[in-house]
Amino acid sequence: MINVDLEKGTYICPYCGHAQAFTMPRHDFESCGFAFKYSMSEKYKECSFIIHSLQCANKGCERICVIALNIKTNKQIDLLPQVTIKQYPDYIPEQIRKDYEEANLILDRSPKAAATLLRRCLQGMIHDFWGIKEKNLNAEITRLKDKVTPMQWKAIDGLRQIGNIGAHMEKDVNLMIDIEPDEAQKLLKLIEMLLEKWYIARHDEEALLTEIIGIAESKEEQRK
Ligand SMILES: [Zn+2]
Repeated sequence: MINVDLEKGTYICPYCGHAQAFTMPRHDFESCGFAFKYSMSEKYKECSFIIHSLQCANKGCERICVIALNIKTNKQIDLLPQVTIKQYPDYIPEQIRKDYEEANLILDRSPKAAATLLRRCLQGMIHDFWGIKEKNLNAEITRLKDKVTPMQWKAIDGLRQIGNIGAHMEKDVNLMIDIEPDEAQKLLKLIEMLLEKWYIARHDEEALLTEIIGIAESKEEQRK
């Protein structure tokens, strides 16, 4: 979902990733032309949307994104682009990036399937990043316990449990537990957070340390 905060007047461009402030949306109108937003009856509010279109202030991008906000529920629907996918660097294994992207693509239409894919994505990260492989994800997450903070561990185990809803049938096959799109969205955010904290932080740290070691070595050379 496009990250827009209309109260603060900020958004993150879904194309170039730049966080920015806007003074006012470029265009803004109600889809139900015959009804005024403030005097609208409940019945019309339910089917009415405010359209906001925003143009990126980054001169290298300047692309436009469009969102619709439901007047009654404030639910946001992304019109352009419909799916926002963060592009992750190549040093994150391709399979993990693919699962993440696929989860993103189906999130609104099938949150349960998205949660299952995110669970698989998590398992791939535990295998690859931590080198932990056990008989199942539950056992793998148990081994992860002393490697992450208690809060992170609980959330990671929560993702496993929620992902299980789509992966396995309940004992009572008539029992259907639904996952809402905004709940799947939070799971997606957790994966994004872990990609940042694990892969990107490690890569950035290694790059900085390598540079400093290089600087120290060249200074040492100069002293000789
Ligand atoms: Zn942009």
